Amino acid sequence: MSNDISGPSWNLLTIYSRVTDPAVERDFSELTELLNKIADLNKNLDHVNFTLAQEVFVKIENAGELFSNLLTYANCLLSVDSADEDAQQMFGRLQRYRKDIGSASKTLQEFEAFAGEEVLESYLNHESVGQARFSILHRRQLAPQLLSRSEEQLVEGLAQNGLHAWGDLYDRLSGSIECDVLVGNQSQSMGLAQAATQMMDSSDAQRKNAWEAINQSWNVHEEACAAGLNAITGWRLDLCDQRSQNEPVGFLDSAVHMNKISVETLNALLASARKSNALAQRAAKLQARAMGKERLGPWDSRAPAPVLEKHSTKLMAFDQAIELIKDAFSTVDPSMGEFVQMMADESWIEATVSAKKRPGAYCTSFSKSKSPRVYMTYSGSTSDVITLAHELGHALHFWVMRDLPETQRRYGMSLAETASTMGETAVRNELLARASSDLEKLDIMWEELSAFTTFMLNIPTRFEFEKNLYDKRRDRPLSPKELRKLMSDAWLEWYGDSISEPDPMFWASKLHFYISGLSFYNFPYLFGYLFSLGVFSEKSHLGDRFYSQYCELLRDTGRMTAEDLAERHLGFDIQSQSFWDNVIDSIHPRIDEYERLLNSVL
Ligand SMILES: [Zn+2]
Repeated sequence: MSNDISGPSWNLLTIYSRVTDPAVERDFSELTELLNKIADLNKNLDHVNFTLAQEVFVKIENAGELFSNLLTYANCLLSVDSADEDAQQMFGRLQRYRKDIGSASKTLQEFEAFAGEEVLESYLNHESVGQARFSILHRRQLAPQLLSRSEEQLVEGLAQNGLHAWGDLYDRLSGSIECDVLVGNQSQSMGLAQAATQMMDSSDAQRKNAWEAINQSWNVHEEACAAGLNAITGWRLDLCDQRSQNEPVGFLDSAVHMNKISVETLNALLASARKSNALAQRAAKLQARAMGKERLGPWDSRAPAPVLEKHSTKLMAFDQAIELIKDAFSTVDPSMGEFVQMMADESWIEATVSAKKRPGAYCTSFSKSKSPRVYMTYSGSTSDVITLAHELGHALHFWVMRDLPETQRRYGMSLAETASTMGETAVRNELLARASSDLEKLDIMWEELSAFTTFMLNIPTRFEFEKNLYDKRRDRPLSPKELRKLMSDAWLEWYGDSISEPDPMFWASKLHFYISGLSFYNFPYLFGYLFSLGVFSEKSHLGDRFYSQYCELLRDTGRMTAEDLAERHLGFDIQSQSFWDNVIDSIHPRIDEYERLLNSVL
């Protein structure tokens, strides 16, 4: 669809005037100087010298701030024009610094892990270090698992050409694979990224064609993928065994720790998803019905809202979208609306339409000026409006935390989507309130339903597969045939008869299983989705008191476990299944409403 609607471009001039700005060079030299000093200090850092450790800590924080400012700038420029040569060079130059900061931090992390209790307390008795108490103590929980210094170095060194090489192989494969997709009645050769956009086509046949072509391409490489997956899981299981000298370390432990939740919370979350499985399947069947079929296909997970009747889709100019989001955010609190206006007035939103731009949307921030930026391509569709609201939610999260020390602003993936999902929900409610017909309402509610089935069926499918994979891999590597079966079983277990067939090649086509740096990149999505809905549902109970409590909650996302956060600010016990059951119950009426609307138009 082509139209003239576009958003504004952002202002980066307050950061640096251009890549060749002398201020960029100044920041680079300051960073180099800091890293040299840290390397010097590290030579004398043992497990007792806490004043030296404090000095290293402060310098690493300073280096991190400079590095992040430079990197965000290069990334912003490359997002708008990936062919920008100056920015490319700057980005390339920063890669070495990334590595240097990583190794500079290693010695301090060791100190934090192995220092005795008394030394550690003295270390924490320093303003900047003390502010990082939560994250330092959280990291220190892993100390009993650590191997000796030389063993840790060996593991990390070998991982480059071992564990990470398999992830790299996967990236190379997925970057070079060509699929032959039937478009209309002509076969077209295209890369995976382009084929993936075909899976968002409004035609059912087109999505199916793309899905089949993608799976066929992965079939050709199934032996390589199986070797990779067996190696990645095998490596991690072996490492868990090595780390089990003091206490047993399981394959889920690192993912749970990284997300700052407990195993009990994860179990409660999944038990609740299982309990609500029938509701999720019912939602999937409603989606299928809206598409004019009995069951969803595995190619439908990113299908757009079906066009139920010929009606012209309304497009919204950017300024109108800002007004709408302002109104929606103001229903939570007037200051939230003012924040949206400020983002627009300061030109902190990049929303132009341009062929040079990278796809996608994100929110980022500059560490020196503590100012956020939102990136997207805005062409006026309802989904663009929702995306804008989502990213502005992230920006608000940053904004309410901006005065906190950097060490208290790093929140994990499980809490990262709290503010963005709430921004989306507020705007969707506003759009629904303004909708003039049932068809329009169905259109708006489609994405809500789609999110529900993705989070409640697709994410648990991925988790189930990955967990079973580790259990079976313990005995021996699995063949492609076995992996196909394991994946199909997981699909059928969760989707039941709401789906026409499983997706047997999902173990190969889903990038998330091949991220060598982290495992179980699935349950945090489900957690984040339901948690944020749980927070939003408190709005009706707390009324005017909601917003201040919400801000306090957001401010604590980087300095507490998810359990403590929920308990302190909302009195929620997220380790109990009833919390999650209640959240899902609150979505139930929306699914009923969708069905009612569907009945009225079909
Ligand atoms: Zn997000």
